[in-house]
Amino acid sequence: MKIKSDYTNTPQFTELNVKSTLPKELVCLDEIAHNMWWAWTYQARNLFKSLDQDLYEQVGHNPVLLLERLSCERQQAIIKDKSLMKHVAEVYKMFREYMDVKPNAKRASVAYLSMEYGLDQVLKIYSGGLGMLAGDYLKEASDSNVDLCAVGFLYRFGYFRQSLSMDGQQIAKYDAQRFNSLPIERELDAEGNQVVVEVPYRDYTVKALVWRVNVGRIKLYLLDTDNDFNSEYDRSITHALYGGDWENRLKQEILLGIGGILTLKKLGIKKDIYHCNEGHAALCNLQRLCDYREEGLSFNEAMELVRASSLYTVHTPVPAGHDYFDEELFGKYMGGYPEKLGISWDEFIGMGRTNPDDHAERFCMSTFACNTCQEINGVSKLHGWVSQKMFAPLWKGYFAEENSVGYVTNGVHFPTWTASEWRKLYDKYFDKTFMSDQSNEDIWHAIYKVPDAEIWETRMALKVKLIKYIKDKFTQQWLRNQGDPAKVVQVLEKINPNALMIGFCRRFATYKRAHLLFTDLERLDKIVNNPERPVLFFFSGKAHPADGAGQGLIKRIFEISRMPQFLGKIIFLEDYDMQLARRLVSGVDIWMNTPTRPLEASGTSGEKAEMNGVVNLSVLDGWYVEGYREGAGWALPEKRTYSDQNYQDQLDAATIYSLLEHEITPLYFSKDAKTGYSKGWIQVVKNSIATIAPHYTMKRQLDDYYSKFYNRQAKRFATLQAKDNKLAKEIAVWKEQVAQKWDTINVVDKNLEALHDVVTGKKAKISFTLDEQGLHDAVGLEFVMLHNTPVDDVNVFKVVPFKLVKTEGNLYTFEVELNPSVAGAYKYGIRMYPKNENLPHRQDFAYVKWIG
Ligand SMILES: *Cc1c(COP(=O)(O)O)cnc(C)c1O
Repeated sequence: MKIKSDYTNTPQFTELNVKSTLPKELVCLDEIAHNMWWAWTYQARNLFKSLDQDLYEQVGHNPVLLLERLSCERQQAIIKDKSLMKHVAEVYKMFREYMDVKPNAKRASVAYLSMEYGLDQVLKIYSGGLGMLAGDYLKEASDSNVDLCAVGFLYRFGYFRQSLSMDGQQIAKYDAQRFNSLPIERELDAEGNQVVVEVPYRDYTVKALVWRVNVGRIKLYLLDTDNDFNSEYDRSITHALYGGDWENRLKQEILLGIGGILTLKKLGIKKDIYHCNEGHAALCNLQRLCDYREEGLSFNEAMELVRASSLYTVHTPVPAGHDYFDEELFGKYMGGYPEKLGISWDEFIGMGRTNPDDHAERFCMSTFACNTCQEINGVSKLHGWVSQKMFAPLWKGYFAEENSVGYVTNGVHFPTWTASEWRKLYDKYFDKTFMSDQSNEDIWHAIYKVPDAEIWETRMALKVKLIKYIKDKFTQQWLRNQGDPAKVVQVLEKINPNALMIGFCRRFATYKRAHLLFTDLERLDKIVNNPERPVLFFFSGKAHPADGAGQGLIKRIFEISRMPQFLGKIIFLEDYDMQLARRLVSGVDIWMNTPTRPLEASGTSGEKAEMNGVVNLSVLDGWYVEGYREGAGWALPEKRTYSDQNYQDQLDAATIYSLLEHEITPLYFSKDAKTGYSKGWIQVVKNSIATIAPHYTMKRQLDDYYSKFYNRQAKRFATLQAKDNKLAKEIAVWKEQVAQKWDTINVVDKNLEALHDVVTGKKAKISFTLDEQGLHDAVGLEFVMLHNTPVDDVNVFKVVPFKLVKTEGNLYTFEVELNPSVAGAYKYGIRMYPKNENLPHRQDFAYVKWIG
């Protein structure tokens, strides 16, 4: 036998955590590090930075890792440094004062469920706008001190890191997160063991570890299936955001919705409101239905309670953007639920269908959300209307403009997104009550008292800071990946802080039209290379790994940025994340956004810019339809002029060029020789801070959710539950009776004569008599007058309710007196609906019969 020259088995390494022990003087830092409060408190960030500046950079601004890596020598040096220890004491005092306030028990309590949360770049559990919104929401819930908790996932790999190859191809890198070095904690039970939640999947359970992120005073519970209890097949449920196939997506949504509720149950948490951030979380309502069934309620009673207490926020403006599951796949996982609910399979899957009896229709998670949540909202006024139209087919008896889908316009968390330079300026000039009264325009008006020079200096300081950040962060990377050192140096040297700097940074989805600017390269060349008025563009953003078109766009922009005439004028910055976003939204002069209307549901990065004196140049879509004010930024015209998208793109591109050539650059560069800045420009900056910024903070958004939805829903939910769910049971019984008799209710008499000759100014009375078949005063009638052809998609001209004028046994007579005041051609119909003052709105029980 020949002896092998090398013989070994696969090495087995076991994790060994050498824990650093902090001296007692520094233990308080560990407490702060494990609360995301530091992420929006610049004093705390500065403190961590000053412990060891180089190390702070090395660990990517992660304070947990910083403390872990702090050498014993450095620890001792810190303890001996009196002024540093004073700083530690001050920040800790600030932290304790913040934390020791008890939540406001007067406001409704909320459980919030979301697939992603953008709290800070060190915690990679977000991909884009949806996550950013959820993260900002938790931070504001903490600042506003409301009783809210949240559920999400702890992803092993999170969203990818982006780099570009030599030819501009996007390279996606997935790094495994080391959970022990993150600002999170294990959620422990009474025995000190990490809480494990068992989530039923088919005929077995998946075990999810529960972690906790302290977001100031708010607790965010993160589920993690990547553990030894589970098979390889299930460990990957929480590996990546929006990764895998439809089966994995369904498994994720089961974990979020069903697992989310089971987690709260295990922790003994009950809230007034269950808020689904996007349809992904909708199965939470399924688990809640099962729980009420187990308590002995009927399916219909359970549904009353679940609906009353849940809210669905939709972020997607097109039907294709929602999640649909084939009946076979859905059945594989959900087959056991009808029995638990006491309904049939068809009734169950029908809750996810627009036409419940259409067996060809797939199960749509958003439709299920609509059917199980009393309230639904879009994320801007325009998107609210788009959502009304999108969901209108669910309630066929009503027109889109009549349905109850509402909106709350998204906002951004002020302390997270406002650069410390601006925060100090606002502190100096704004009223002391500012933080608790952020939507008060009067307070923001104090910006007009700030000397122009101070505004300009702040703007310049942030531009310089951005350029330094780019040089520090990208020099090495570009030298490694993008070859030609001479070119790299040239790009970096050409970044001119005196140029008008414009940012276009967001996900590279094609509807965002990043290509628009490059429609006419000659014209763009003249704009950026004007020697008196130089302009510079920063582009940044990731394309979904499966989105070839988005990646193609990045490649094209990268190629253009390498053309000699655009070198150092068009710059693509890789790996857009929260940190880069923070520098960009405060460092450029203009924030540009050019989506195809109305596909930008809200957008929030332009709002972040507002807080930092950066003005918007944007299509009037999403939040900017409401936000735009003349003299406070620039807008592309509202109405779509061409139905051909190519023509529209060309028109919009021409508008952007023209605005840049004739309005924006002349204003920016009309600099006063003495002061060095343009008074006119500062005026625009001040106008935008005074009139736009106050309306787009997360504080305003949170307050809107309370005033538009939570308060009203919590009150109704409490009423339904009182006295052993008395009202919930009554409504369920009433609906059952109406449903049974609905088709037998008939018209026994009517008088429509007055409609034969309708003249303005002359009253016309019509009447109906119905046999309500033993139901007591259970229906209402209304006269629905329609435009002959819809006006701006609106069908309804007017709805006039009938009055009940006589009852005789089962016979109910209704009358309406019309008083036409505007002549024209209309259509009309007479509509019968179930009438009950305990219903929140018509779509809650959308039975409708047209009877004339
Ligand atoms: C704010 C933000 C977004 C969302 O920006 P939109 O304008 O809504 O596209 C996405 N990614 C990051 C990193 C952000 O900070």
